[in-house]
Formats: sequence, structure tokens, C-alpha cells
Amino acid sequence: MTTNTELKQRRLAAAPRGVGVMCEFHAAQADNALITDVEGNQYIDFAAGIAVLNTGHRHPRIVAAVQEQLTHFTHTAYQIVPYESAISLAERINALSPIDGPAKTAFFTTGVEAVENAVKIARFATGRSGVIAFQGAFHGRTLMGLTLTGKVLPYKAGFGAMVPDVYHVPFPAKDVTVEDSLAAIHMLFKTDVAPQRVAAIILEPVQGEGGFNPVPTALFEGLRKICDEHGILLIADEVQTGFARTGKLFAMEHHTVKADLITMAKSLGGGMPISGVVGRAAVMDAPNPGGLGGTYAANPLAVAAAHAVLDVIEGEKLCARAVELGDRLQTRLKAIQQKDAGISDVRGLGSMVAVEFHNATTGAPDAARVNAIVQAALAKGLLLLTCGLYGNVIRFLHPLTIEDAQFDKALDLIEAAIAG
Ligand code: PMP
Repeated sequence: MTTNTELKQRRLAAAPRGVGVMCEFHAAQADNALITDVEGNQYIDFAAGIAVLNTGHRHPRIVAAVQEQLTHFTHTAYQIVPYESAISLAERINALSPIDGPAKTAFFTTGVEAVENAVKIARFATGRSGVIAFQGAFHGRTLMGLTLTGKVLPYKAGFGAMVPDVYHVPFPAKDVTVEDSLAAIHMLFKTDVAPQRVAAIILEPVQGEGGFNPVPTALFEGLRKICDEHGILLIADEVQTGFARTGKLFAMEHHTVKADLITMAKSLGGGMPISGVVGRAAVMDAPNPGGLGGTYAANPLAVAAAHAVLDVIEGEKLCARAVELGDRLQTRLKAIQQKDAGISDVRGLGSMVAVEFHNATTGAPDAARVNAIVQAALAKGLLLLTCGLYGNVIRFLHPLTIEDAQFDKALDLIEAAIAG
């Protein structure tokens, strides 16, 4: 049997440390909400491949769809020889997405590619280059992605000059109010960049890596007003919030305000790499033919998976399930909070739930405690992820298809790990 220790040594020798790895164990098998490692240890998976597996590991309908596609073709390059499945997936997403008026969708491969392309489309459509993003945001690791990301360590530090004409304003969380954020944008227009040079404002409807902080409706209303006044496009980065996680297919459906462009990835593919940008048709059609794309964009296997993901979300009512599981988790966490002065906040939208820790006496963010809890949970067979600008938040990304008994077991493990 290959052991985890052997594999770790080989990994450290063969792969650069820059691709940081959280777990000391190595996957051998995964089924719905359970990962089995090479030594036969089992873990309930509350990371879901970083928000990719809202439909669980290897959902039978998704596996069947990919297998079926394998018998036809795996790649033609959509830009060379297109196929019906990608067209019908775009049609489905156009119909389902909260975009005002006629919509069009372009597919890519990774989340950050969707972000890059949304910015490219916004720049072309407006003829402007400026982009406003939020502090604490995460938009990916390519150069534009990390420029838009609002966190220095480990994402930006050491990687040289960022892309020009990108500006950050405070995100309304903790002591920052919606008014503060909007005032910062108006100040930016006075001190740094004319609004006529700004192509887009981009934000996550719930800041993901930044700490699972939902955007208040008033911020979206304020941003929409600024965008409409100055001809700026609003981009909602739904790479992490998408596909039923928050209790709606898209988190923007929680708001009446509409984005001009929405990025998506992760749970759209249920484990297969696919991303996309949906937006107002006139905006999406701005770039010239050949300006958008990518060799693997709309990969047929991933497209087949995405169709099955949409079927499963609808067929198994996963939006309602996200609300139900999120409520159960929040209720349990709030009960634990009653007895634990170190828990400063329990928050969430649907199943995008987080618990935040501060030192009860000093009030400082308590990343050390969060790491200890994550390690304790792991030792008992539950995989949890952290987030937050200060690393003091635990986020919960259970598959929405998780069985009730397993979910209850995980809640007990969470309580035990927090109790220490
Ligand atoms: N945007 C958001 C909101 C994300 O959460 C992420 C990934 N965590 C990305 C973009 C980047 O996605 P990818 O890693 O697939 O490039």
C-alpha cells in the first residue's frame, strides 16, 4: 500500500511549495460527501473541492453524462468545430441567470479565466480600462485576477507590479458601512480616476475567501446607481456563490439589482473544469470574433457535466436543501456561541455559512484557534476550510447532496472540535 508519508515526500520533491497543500493525506476515492484516502481513512468533506461539489463527489447522473459524452467526442475545440451541447448549455444559463433583458453566455475553463474575460468584455464594451474592486476580495491567481484580489499575502506579495488602472475600496464588513464604501468610490473619482475612465466595478455577492461576508442590498443599490450614472458595468463574481450554494441558483437572485455581467465556475461543472460569463447580450457581443475563447473553453465533457449539474439542482431541489442545511448549521453554531465567548459571529446565506473567532479578552482575530479547530476536526474525520482577511473564520462548504445522518455527524464533530 502507498502510504500518505511516502506520497508527501514524493510530492515535496516533485512539486513546488508555491502550490500550497492543506492536507497530509492523499485521495484514493470520493463518494458524495465522503473522501477515502490511500490508507483507507475516511473524511466527511466540508470543503467540497473549494465550493465545486454542491452536487457531491461523483453524482451518478453527472458521471453518466460524462461517460455518455466520452463515447462521442472529448474535444474538437469549440472555436473550430462547435457542438449542440455547448449551445444548449448557453441557452439554459441565459434563461436561468438574473440578467436584465436578452443574455448571452461564453464558456471558459477556470474561475479566474471567467473573471479575466468579464473584465475584457467590460473594457471592450465601454472603451475604458479602469476597474474598481473591493478590499478582501478574491478573484483568482492570474495577473489580472490577483490584481483584482484584495489581499496581499499570500496572493500578491512577491509577484511584481500589478495590472494598471485597478482600484480597491473598503468592503462593508465589521466597522465599514455601506455609506463608507460608496463614499470611498466617490472619493476615488475625485482623487484617482475619472468615472469616465472606469469600465467596471467587480464584486462577489458574498465575499468568499474574504470571510463569507454577504453584500448588503444597499451596497448593490448604491453601486447600480453609480454605474448607471457614469456608464460603468457591474460585474458579479459568482464563482464561489453560484449554483444553489446560497439557496438560489445565483446569489444575485437575492437582490432586485441586476449585474451586467456574471462570472461562474466551480459548482457549474460538479468536478469538471468549466467556467463562464453570462451578461447582457449587447455587452457580451462587443468584442470582435477571436477576441474571446481558449483551447479548452466549453470542453465537451465539462459541458455534459454542467447539463447534469443543472438537472440535479432542479431535480433534487438543491436550492431548498441549501437553505435547510444552512439553517440547521447556523442554529447549531449559534447554540455553541452561547457558551463560547471566542465566537464573535455566525453568519451565512443559505449554505454559505461561516463562524468567526476573536480572542475573548483582547478582541484580536484568533487565527490560531481556528487552525487548532480545523486540525482537531481533521483528526476526527471532518475536512473544514478557513477564510477571512485574518484567517480567523471557518467556512462550511458541505455538498448540498449530503445525507442527513452524515450531516448530523459532522455537526457533532464541529461542536467537539470547537470545544477543544
Ligand atoms: N473568483 C472567486 C469569487 C473565487 O472564489 C475563486 C476561487 N476561489 C476564483 C474567482 C478563481 O477561480 P479558479 O481558482 O477556478 O481560477
